[in-house]
Order: sequence, then structure tokens, then C-alpha cells
Amino acid sequence: MIVVLFGPPGCGKGTQAASIGHRFQIPAISTGAMFRAECKAGTELGRRACSILKSGGLVGDEIVDQIVAARIRQPDCAAGFLLDGYPRTLEQATFLDGLVRKLGLPKPMAILLDVPAEVLVSRITARRQCGRCGRIYNMLSQPPKVGEICDDDEAPLIRREDDTEEVILARLKAYHDATGPVIAYYRNGGCCRVDATGTPGEIARQIESLLAGDCEPVGC
Ligand SMILES: [Zn+2]
Repeated sequence: MIVVLFGPPGCGKGTQAASIGHRFQIPAISTGAMFRAECKAGTELGRRACSILKSGGLVGDEIVDQIVAARIRQPDCAAGFLLDGYPRTLEQATFLDGLVRKLGLPKPMAILLDVPAEVLVSRITARRQCGRCGRIYNMLSQPPKVGEICDDDEAPLIRREDDTEEVILARLKAYHDATGPVIAYYRNGGCCRVDATGTPGEIARQIESLLAGDCEPVGC
């Protein structure tokens, strides 16, 4: 089973990636984590990616493709894997298709975690952090016991400067501009849309039934 997971910032993608990986015993591969690992291991590709990232540039398709290709050739990916943060461009998507064909692996299945913009905005603007210990709260889903005060040290909670509606909407627009063509690419090969407005547990159950073939995929 090969899963490529898409979703806007704030949709809970990291949590779902970990949950799918655990449930189906496949590695959940995040490109961000992979870059850090390659950098740390000091491989030639890692060093190239590191220096590009440090200079503020975007890592090009060729380097990303090679890092992903090296990762999915590892023995733990033989029974499948999940990709989070890849493919990000049409070139990467076609490269992945060619690679899995060459390795004799099944066609990737795309899952889109769908959350309306207004839900993301209300979720993200509800985020708070303790100014003293850094503990994270959410006034909607994980509020402190009293007011806007940290449960652990009673310090006031603060809102991060970039957790505003304008910043979130700009981030969402950038996400849609970048990912739109890639999602359209998977639409033909069977992309499944999952309503990701529920609790993490509810979303995980929907994805599990989808991957287990218990329910009809809803096109994205
Ligand atoms: Zn605190």
C-alpha cells in the first residue's frame, strides 16, 4: 500500500500520517524529517539539500526525487509506505509513478484531508501558548482549566503573531496554488477526499475504512 497524503496547513496531517503508519505498519515518511535525517547523516544529497535550504532556496525536484527514491528503496518500505509533503509538483508526481512501476510496487493512492478554510481559521486563531513554559493549548479543542491561564504554572497564555486570519488565508492560498495541479493529477488515478473536520479519531477511522477497502472512495 502506497499512500500520498495531502491537506492544507492546520488540517492535522502529521497526526493522521502517524496514525495510518501505525495502523497499517508502514513507515510514514515526511519530506521535512527526511531532509533533516539526510543532513545529519551527511550524505552527498543531504549536504546539497542542506546548503540550498540554508541559503533560503527551494530544494529542486531532482534532489527531492533522489532523496525520496533512496528512502523508499529501504527494506522497511517493501510492504508500502506513506508520503507526507511529497509529491509537491507535477514533475515529482510523475517521477514517483515511474519509480513505483520500476520497483514493482502498487500505484500510489492519494488521500486529501479536506477542511473548509473557515474551520481552519477558527482552529488556528484558537491556538494559545503559555508564555512561560511553552505548553500549547487550543481554546476550542484543548482549553486550559481556567480562563486563558496555563494549568501548569498559571502564566497567561499568548497568541502567536502569525496565528491571525490574514496569515492563515495567505498560507492557504499558497498551499492551493502549489498543490492544486498535483491533486488534479491524482484525480484521474483515484484520489480520495476525506472530511477532516471531525476529531482525530473520527478522521483516522474514515481513512482506515477507505484504505481497507470498506467504503467507496469519494473523488477529490
Ligand atoms: Zn505554562
